[in-house]
Formats: sequence, C-alpha cells, structure tokens
Amino acid sequence: MKNFFLKQLESYKLIYRELIKENLSLFIQLFLFLLLEGLTIVFSILSLVPIADFFADNTLSDPSYITKFFIKVYDFIGIDSGIVTFLLAFIFFNFLKAINNTIISYGIIKIKYTLIKKLTFNFLKNCFNSRWLFFQRHSSGRFINIYNNEIGKISSSFYDFVTQSSMSIKFLTYLVTPFFLNFQITITTLFLAIIFTSPFLVLGKIANKLGYKNTLTGKNFLTGISETLQAAKLIISYNKQKDEIQRNQDLFLQHLKVTTKFQILSSITTFFYQPLAILAISISLIYSLKTQSNIAELAAVLYSLVATLPMLGGFVQSNLNLQNLTPSLIMYKSLIDESKSLKERNSGNKFDKITSQIEFKNISFKYDNGFKAVKNCNLVFKKNMITAISGKSGSGKSTLLDLLLGIQIPLSGNIFVDSQNINNIDLASYRNNFSIVSQDPYLFNVSILDNLKWVKKDIDENHLQECLRLANCEDFIAKLPNKIETIVGERGMKLSGGQRQRVSLARAIVGKPQVLILDEPTSSLDKESEQLIFDSLKKISNFTTIILITHDSKIINLADKIYSIKDGEIVDKN
Ligand code: ADP
Repeated sequence: MKNFFLKQLESYKLIYRELIKENLSLFIQLFLFLLLEGLTIVFSILSLVPIADFFADNTLSDPSYITKFFIKVYDFIGIDSGIVTFLLAFIFFNFLKAINNTIISYGIIKIKYTLIKKLTFNFLKNCFNSRWLFFQRHSSGRFINIYNNEIGKISSSFYDFVTQSSMSIKFLTYLVTPFFLNFQITITTLFLAIIFTSPFLVLGKIANKLGYKNTLTGKNFLTGISETLQAAKLIISYNKQKDEIQRNQDLFLQHLKVTTKFQILSSITTFFYQPLAILAISISLIYSLKTQSNIAELAAVLYSLVATLPMLGGFVQSNLNLQNLTPSLIMYKSLIDESKSLKERNSGNKFDKITSQIEFKNISFKYDNGFKAVKNCNLVFKKNMITAISGKSGSGKSTLLDLLLGIQIPLSGNIFVDSQNINNIDLASYRNNFSIVSQDPYLFNVSILDNLKWVKKDIDENHLQECLRLANCEDFIAKLPNKIETIVGERGMKLSGGQRQRVSLARAIVGKPQVLILDEPTSSLDKESEQLIFDSLKKISNFTTIILITHDSKIINLADKIYSIKDGEIVDKN
C-alpha cells in the first residue's frame, strides 16, 4: 500500500516537472475551463431549489433564501414566479450547462491537440537536429510508437490529471443536494430518458462516418511520419529537414480538422444526455404531482444520481490513465534527451563550391559498439573526375561515404575540402554540394515528377527533360499510362529495380550537384539496365565529380582513380 502511494507521488512529481511546469499556460487554461464548468453545475443545482420549495408549500410562504433570490430576479425582469417558470429555469440552466460543456470540450480538445502538436514537433525537430547516429541507434518502430501511442497517452493523461483534481470539487457540489429514494419514479424517469435520448442514434451515424474519416487522416499522418523517419538519411543528405517537417505539419492539420469535429460530436451525445434526463425527471415530477408522491426530494435524488454516477466512473478511469503515464513520459523524455546530446553541429563557415578536391587524411572511425570500420585511410577525390572505391561487402565503403558527408564523425584524422577542414564548415551548406544514388533508392509514394521536384520545386522544363535524358528515363516514362505523373507506389515499388535506380539518378542530378555519389548503382540490375546506367554515367561524368562505389568491373573502368578497401584499410590505389 505504502509502495502504491509512493509510486503515485513519483508520478505526480514527474508530471509536474515534465508537463505542468513546461506547459504552465496550457495547464492554467484547462483548469479555468474546468472551474467554469463547476460554476454552471452549481447554477443548475440551485435552480432545483425553488421547485423543491414549491412542492413543499405551493403558496411559498416561507421559502429558502435561494428561492427568494430567484423570485427577486424574476420580478426584476418582469416574469411571473411559479412552477412553470421554476421548471423552465431549471431546464434552461441544464441546457446552458450542456452548451457550456460543448464549448469547454472544444477548448479542451484544442488544448489537448496543442499539447500533442508541441510534443510531436518538439520530438521531430529534435530528431532532425541530431546526427544520423541518433537514427542509427533506434529502430523506426521505436519512433513510430512514440507518435502512435506514447504522445497520445501523455496528452490524454495530462488532461486527466487536471480533470481528476477538479473532479473531487464537482463531486462534492452534487452531493449537497438532498438524498431520498423512490423506486417507481426512478424507473419512470429512466424509461423516459431512454426515449428522449434515442434521437442521438442519428448523431451516432454521423459520428460513425466522421470516425472513419478520422481513422483515415490519422493513418495518413502516421504514414507520413513513418515515411519521413525511414527516409531520414536521404532527408539529411539533401538538407530537406524543414520541408519534411512542413509536409508532416500539413498532414497533421488535415487530421486535426476531422478529429476535432469527430470528438466534439461524440461529446455532444454525452453532454445532452443530462438535460434530456432532467426533462424526463420534470415530466416524472408532474406525473408524480398527480399521484401525490414526494416529488421535490425525489427529483434531487435522481438528479444527483444522473450527475454523480458517470463522474465516479471518470474518476476511476483517470486514475488508471495516470498509472500509464509515467512510462510513456520517461520513454519520450529519454529519447529527447538523447537527441539533444547528439545534436548536429550547425556552426562554421558557409561553404560555396569545391574548386579542386576533397581529401581524407589519416581517417579512422569506430562504431558505437567499438568496431573499427575505417583504419587510417588516405583518399583524394578530384574535381570533375570519377573516383571509384571497390571492396567486398562489409569492407567499409558505405562508412567512408558517411564520413565524406559528415554524417559520421571520424575518430581521428581530418577531411579537407580544398584547403578547409570540414570541421570548420557549416555542414548544411557543405552537403548542398552532394547528391546520392544509393543501392536501394528511396522514392516517395507520389508521382515521378513530384519525386524529382522534392529536390528542386521550381525545376524548369528544359532542365527536367535534360535530367530525364541523362538518366535514360525518357523511354520507360513514355510507356507508362500516366507518363511522368505516374505514382510510383510505396518506396517506388511500382517501378522495376532499374527504373527506380534511373529515377533516383535523375533526381540526383536535378539539383545540379557538384559531387554525385553512387553507391553500388548496378548491384541489383540486369545487363540491360546496367548498360543504361553505364551510358548515363558516361554522359554525366563530363561535368560532375563522381564518387562511385562498385563491384562492377565494367563500370569501374570508367573511373579515373580506383581505391580498393579491405577490412577498413586502403590496400590498393591506381
Ligand atoms: P560496405 O559498405 O563495404 O559493405 P560498411 O561500411 O557498411 O561496409 O560496413 C563496414 C563494417 O562496419 C562492417 O563490418 C559492418 O558490419 C560494420 N558496421 C556497419 N554499420 C555498423 C553499425 N551501425 N554499427 C556497428 N558496425 C557497423
């Protein structure tokens, strides 16, 4: 038991530190909304008192001070005090409460999603401000889970935490009402309440439709995020972090539009249930007036029951949610902290263009697990020449590329661009000089044209045609049903390996890179596709520096310089 309370206390402390302190203005807004809700509840209860007074003594010779107050107000605005007025006021206050609840619900949903937005984009920004190493350390599933489950849990628990605090006050407010029991009236009221709430079944249908849309936009949002995270290396290499964050933000806003409608509709049903139940009670009162039951007190009992029972359920539920919050919050926070500790360097001189060469001087590199993948390598990549790196799988070729792009940081040694050490250069401006065609190129699930425009939005028609020609894409695109507007499928799966490779090559040259890196561009291709890539490279090599990683003896013959690497060491240069 002691352990349970200690755990509970720890949860509260963590929530205070990580959520409330960090989001104080949100917290205050939410609390004010809930206080406002409490106020409408008090009014709806107070308006019950004149009715009770009337049934106790319909001459109202000695009513309570609350009834006197209501009568004074009615006199002031020129309305006759009587049972009809009292009942109408009671119904009015309850409808007011429902409307107020709807507004509050909108406010709460807005606040909840502001928090989700903040947590989500804080996470995405931190991820993309950190080095590739951060992505390498975690599976994409871990990231998706953060978005899919943990952030949702955190924000709903944040709401529950505030609700829980205000719930106890509300609960007591309701219990002020007198409490008596009558079986017959309860049954009549329940029966009437069911009849009155049946029209909400229609709302249920609309909610169902919206719910479907809600799932779809939610899924689209998650797919977008998942795609972005899977393409992280590509995004970093092409400096597309900002664009990708924007694309996800747009998908999120689409989802927000639908989900707000959907959730408001769901809550309307809950909120309007209560005034309609009150209407049922009022009818029961009139019916009981004829059968001479003790109506005033019964109304209060039924009212209290209607109001407090769902509250008790909510109280239990929110406490359960609070239990789930701590692990989610810890998981979220630890990833954010790690991404901050692996922040990408964003200082240094802006880099314009390579004038002569890039040189690796005594470069060594160790992976996180201690494995030394590159050992004392010396390499030179000359401007407008083809430099090839060959070696068996696992020899360290891709690691050399990551070092070249500044995606990995050397353990020792230096990389110079012309005479500048890349440690002193702004990485984003440095990477703008490169384009990559990887072994298994990543294409987005949009048209071929949009995949090319991803690199350069305002690509002019002549340049576009030139890139398609250089990459040998023209013929196969002409045969596609929607030509360049053809959607390529997830990861470009609707294209063949060779076509994917060539679209990726076209995309790489759209931005007119100074250095084109090709990582095993022909490894999974048939002879014909291989020949097409070979032809493209010959054309492109006239005006671009090319770095080629390959086993392919035919392609390697194109190279001006070949480095052979074995177990992380350069073993042969020619
Ligand atoms: P290649 O591109 O020549 O196939 P890599 O550069 O991918 O080789 O890998 C070189 C060596 O480094 C391999 O032995 C590989 O197992 C190891 N390696 C690659 N990535 C990692 C990593 N993230 N953590 C630990 N070792 C790695």
